[in-house]
Amino acid sequence: MNTTLLTGIGELTTNTAAPGDPCGTLPDAAVLIEGDRIAWVGAAVDAPTATTVIDAGGRAVIPGFVDSHSHLVFAGDRAAEFEARMAGRPYTAGGIRSTVAATRAATDDELRARLNGFVAELLAQGTTTVEIKSGYGLSVADEERLVRLAAEVTPEVTFLGAHVVPTEYTDRADAYVDLVVGPMLDACAPFSRWIDVFCETGAFTVAQSRRVLEAGIARGLAPRVHASQLGPGDGVRLAVELGAASIDHGTYLTEADVTALAVSDTVLTLLPGVEFSTRQPYPDARRLLDAGVTVALACDTNPGSSFTSSMPFCIAIAVRDMGLTPAEAVWAATAGGALALRRDDIGAIAPGRRADLVLLDAPTRIHLAYRPGVPLVDRVWKDGVLRFTAR
Ligand SMILES: [Zn+2]
Repeated sequence: MNTTLLTGIGELTTNTAAPGDPCGTLPDAAVLIEGDRIAWVGAAVDAPTATTVIDAGGRAVIPGFVDSHSHLVFAGDRAAEFEARMAGRPYTAGGIRSTVAATRAATDDELRARLNGFVAELLAQGTTTVEIKSGYGLSVADEERLVRLAAEVTPEVTFLGAHVVPTEYTDRADAYVDLVVGPMLDACAPFSRWIDVFCETGAFTVAQSRRVLEAGIARGLAPRVHASQLGPGDGVRLAVELGAASIDHGTYLTEADVTALAVSDTVLTLLPGVEFSTRQPYPDARRLLDAGVTVALACDTNPGSSFTSSMPFCIAIAVRDMGLTPAEAVWAATAGGALALRRDDIGAIAPGRRADLVLLDAPTRIHLAYRPGVPLVDRVWKDGVLRFTAR
């Protein structure tokens, strides 16, 4: 079998805890790739032989980013809404409906071309695993189309029929939930791994959210929840009670929410691009980590509230404005994302894991926050295959 040795790594982030270094790094390291897996990790001086040898030149290598929250299947653009918001108009959940209209009007091939473009965009920024949600179809046929297209590019597909109540169901939210938990779930479950709901004022109540999640669980889908984005609510409590893999946003958390998350297996996925793009206050991630909550970082790429696909940008914000150290932010964007997707084969650099690696054009991962906006991703391997080279 062909093997590749990536050696001369100045700083290797393994995410396997070491004494005094919970996020795990090795200096002067090497990694052996065999097929789609990592076969060996250690000091460069002890490295085994390989058919191909690549010298990292003293630069840093990190695990591929695991972006556990995105909405990449859509059509249209909401730049004007963003511009109005920057001029003072507040963000509301209702803007989703304009993307729904554009998405319904697009063909499969148009949606697929845009989706493939986004996946390439993410890869060039170091993301090797991405979760993709539906939620801009909101009819049986359109939601089925979105999860089917998402399943062409990732196994991490989430059915989010309960994203917002569509215009044709205005004032009939419960009737729309009947559709979501009935024929829409029947059509989407075969393409989906996850069930999600937007549990928020202006979207779905706790009782409606519970119906959606329980129906998904009964069909073998695992729950994750959008909650506490626009204000405090009971979404976190519901997510923890139902054993959700993740509750996402958490911009407004109560003390009771933090306590409940700290003693649960539910990851809190922070989406700094949303606060950045909506001018909402950043959650205090320092307080969450100190309380024992497991935190992941994701981009929430979507045309309304966060149209960035850059995990390095989100890491920079998490360090600058949320109180994470650079090491904690990189951990949250890799190992944290893997936990938010309940995956044990990605998110770390260790023997047996998938060979998803990013070579940075920098001596240390700190540069991801220290040099915001600078493209530092030099090469990306996914499943052992070199998929991106900067030059
Ligand atoms: Zn979202």
